[in-house]
Amino acid sequence: MVELEDLPGVGPATAVKLKESGYSSLEALAVASSKELATAVDIGETTAQKIIQAAREQLEIGYSTALEFYDVRKAVGRITTGSQQLDSILGGGVETNAITEFYGPFRSGKTQLCHELCIKVQLPPENGGLSAAALYIDSEGTFRPERLVQMMEHEDLEIDSTLQNIVYARAYNSDHQMLLVEEAPSIVKEKNIQLVIVDALTSYFRSEYTGRGTLAERQQKLNKHLHQLLRLAEVHNLAVVVANQVMARPDMFFGDPTAPVGGHIVAHACTTRVYLRKSKGERRIARVIDSPCLPEAEAVFVIKEEGIGDA
Ligand code: ADP
Ligand code: MG
Repeated sequence: MVELEDLPGVGPATAVKLKESGYSSLEALAVASSKELATAVDIGETTAQKIIQAAREQLEIGYSTALEFYDVRKAVGRITTGSQQLDSILGGGVETNAITEFYGPFRSGKTQLCHELCIKVQLPPENGGLSAAALYIDSEGTFRPERLVQMMEHEDLEIDSTLQNIVYARAYNSDHQMLLVEEAPSIVKEKNIQLVIVDALTSYFRSEYTGRGTLAERQQKLNKHLHQLLRLAEVHNLAVVVANQVMARPDMFFGDPTAPVGGHIVAHACTTRVYLRKSKGERRIARVIDSPCLPEAEAVFVIKEEGIGDA
């Protein structure tokens, strides 16, 4: 097997730096941008470009046929949400190799869904999981292991080992949140992670960049963050799930006065967007808004003590 050290332009010292910066495989290098790589490991952009090109050649990346890409698509896995109705409008559950965004107002069920998916991903495929682990990046301080234990009581899972299969990190600001994603590849490999959660995606970006003059910088960083997440999803064939808030649109008098935070950058990077809203009591309504191959559709699900389920 070809190692990083075998690539032209990569000496032992550069190999160490590459690994430390999260470029631990040829796959990660092949999809890197030269600018990013140059900054991360402190080399010239031309050298970075050469390294990326060499990694691509090793992996024979370039054009492929639809038939070859069909094989990639067939390897896409699905994680059940716990609700058959919701799974059904998602085409069978939350998919790997993609970013799925759940957005909606406060208490619409985003965090509950994130918790439920961390458990479901650990189930065997015949029960809607991927027999894999989860990674949870929490920017709002709402991650609750005791809630996981409550949800788990209704599954055939052992509490301690299930909790051990959920790697958790509290993000303290937007830079830290980005760093956690940059560091994710090595953990993903080590722990067989097939689900990466960011709950919530834009909270820090929104609170840290407030003035009008800072909007461009915010969007630039958010763009980079999302592309790192997308790369993680594609390189490791895992599911990325992000929760996102909505902003009130006081300028809108008709229709739904809410839109997800992050504008077209988030819209563009997320593969499937699902709008959640509260209905009566424990009921929630999910609507697939944007997806490359799913129709716009609505489903009702419930949040109960045992977790996400059908109404
Ligand atoms: P958000 O979209 O703001 O992340 P949450 O996912 O935190 O919303 O949803 C919070 C809602 O989930 C609560 O208002 C409640 O209706 C429901 N919920 C939370 N915990 C439980 C529980 N243990 N049993 C039943 N319902 C719960
Ligand atoms: Mg939440």
